[in-house]
Amino acid sequence: MSQKVMIIEDEEALALLLKYNLEKEGYEVFWESRGNKAVAEVEKNLPAVIILDWMLPEMSGIEIARMIRSKPDIKTIPIIMLTAKGEEEDKVKGLTAGADDYVTKPFSVPELMARVKANLRRAPELVADKEFIFEDIRMDLTEKKVYRGNNFIHLGPTEFRLLKMLIEHPGKVFSREKLLKTVWGDNIYVESRTVDVHIRRLRKSLNEFGPDYIRTVRATGYALDKEGSSEAEAE
Ligand code: CA
Repeated sequence: MSQKVMIIEDEEALALLLKYNLEKEGYEVFWESRGNKAVAEVEKNLPAVIILDWMLPEMSGIEIARMIRSKPDIKTIPIIMLTAKGEEEDKVKGLTAGADDYVTKPFSVPELMARVKANLRRAPELVADKEFIFEDIRMDLTEKKVYRGNNFIHLGPTEFRLLKMLIEHPGKVFSREKLLKTVWGDNIYVESRTVDVHIRRLRKSLNEFGPDYIRTVRATGYALDKEGSSEAEAE
């Protein structure tokens, strides 16, 4: 069965170009141009990955990403945000709203294809019959759920993969580069600040129900350990 990709984009020429290229790669493609219809279409078609334009009539990509992330049945679907805005601040805003990845227009079709593949590749990784526990944090990989004590923690797909990497090796300091490579995949250019944005989101979700166990190692990266957010130099 072919995997489904949903394109939410009002520029017809671009949407058709992407649709053509994705179909050539064997994907089943759905296209929606109206922002206010996008979330309903995602819920109906349940794609494996969403390509979401930032600037849309009636509802912005940012609002759509937020809505998708608030709905239990579709909130784990990876979102690749398309943006004509090159500003770093806008990218961060997009990621904060719930996008997993972003591509700045104009982009090359092969680059976008690589990102679609990378976002799809990550999904099966999560299917494993086991769980990880660190202090009061429990990660159930079968159910794809995270708990802190008895509280269910809502995490986006990127935060889930980040936590999985950290919790598999408690105390180990991971560099931003290592996290980027493992969580986002090879052959993909993502700025290292992107890691910081997702770590911030992961922290915020986890810390709602307990102390901060994510340690920032200055100029290096991150680790999961009981020292938490107190800054320390790399070993
Ligand atoms: Ca547009």
